[in-house]
Amino acid sequence: MTKIFNIDSLNLNNDKLKEAGLALKNGKTVIFPTETVYGLGANGLDETAIKKIYKAKGRPSDNPLILHLSNVEDIKKYAYINEELLNKIKKITPGPITFVLIKKEIVPDIVTANRETVAIRIPAHPIARELIKNAGVPIAAPSANISGKPSLTRSKDVIEEMNNRVDYIITSDDPDFGLESTVIDLTKKNVVLLRPGPISPEKLKDIFGKIEVPDFIYGKKEADIAIAPGMKYRHYSPEKPVILVKDFSKDFKNDIKNFKKPVFFILKENLKFIKNDGFDYEIIDKNYFEFAVKLFALLRKYDKTHDAIIIESLKDEGIGIAIMNRLRKAASKII
Ligand code: AMP
Ligand code: MG
Repeated sequence: MTKIFNIDSLNLNNDKLKEAGLALKNGKTVIFPTETVYGLGANGLDETAIKKIYKAKGRPSDNPLILHLSNVEDIKKYAYINEELLNKIKKITPGPITFVLIKKEIVPDIVTANRETVAIRIPAHPIARELIKNAGVPIAAPSANISGKPSLTRSKDVIEEMNNRVDYIITSDDPDFGLESTVIDLTKKNVVLLRPGPISPEKLKDIFGKIEVPDFIYGKKEADIAIAPGMKYRHYSPEKPVILVKDFSKDFKNDIKNFKKPVFFILKENLKFIKNDGFDYEIIDKNYFEFAVKLFALLRKYDKTHDAIIIESLKDEGIGIAIMNRLRKAASKII
């Protein structure tokens, strides 16, 4: 049986949060809210506990987890890092960004899927931070969804998908970002972007100088599995087909004619291309931000009610890079 707690992020001195922290320390699994997506956590130093994460998600064992800490100085306990780099990290931490560093011996191999490197994040969400403090250990966590599905960003979706798969579920308000953290590799000569996310390459450039953005970020070729584990797997995928449309002014209707009840996620300026057909739609806001926050929730919602999700391809700019990176993986077809 899963214990479900709904916690107000303004009420952190809370017995439920203390109970969940202690349970985590003692080997239980806890789903918790973060500013990006819900995470599925276990004691990051306890191999047996961490195995439960892989089992609950059906996650392949070669896809490593992120170690979540409450204090940036604690990075030194788990990874090799010099003061200069730590100072740069402090400029964007806590927040929706994950750093890949050379791991120290104390980090169990199961966290890193036998790599020499460990991914570390200091979340900004007050409940996540308090939970880590209460546990008194780092929390190893991937996103809380079943492997291959869109990440979870709504409390009702978390309960529907993960009830009875974990020991505790903590729900709270909807997240600020709704997309997974930016991941950067700090072990190379240049900083390498491994997963685009809420912190944009432009922002990273301000702090770290040159940033390498590999081709696979834009879906140009398969991820180099050696540097970006997890990227090779099908991801973010609803059951129903997701179709990405590059240009609505071209004839796309032939490609969708077999669907009886598709839904469109489309920019307002292109509504004219579908409006007369009576299709359901969601408008994508011009700067993409509101869309990014609700993207995974929308995929889950329409997966239940429609037979295809047709999405406009967005520009690979700012948060658009992260959205398109997820959508290319979710898509069954790009036209
Ligand atoms: P998730 O939070 O479910 O998206 O999973 C964590 C993601 O972090 C993985 O899919 C990897 O892309 C990334 N990650 C974790 N550990 C490492 C590592 N040592 N090196 C590179 N990427 C990592
Ligand atoms: Mg995930």
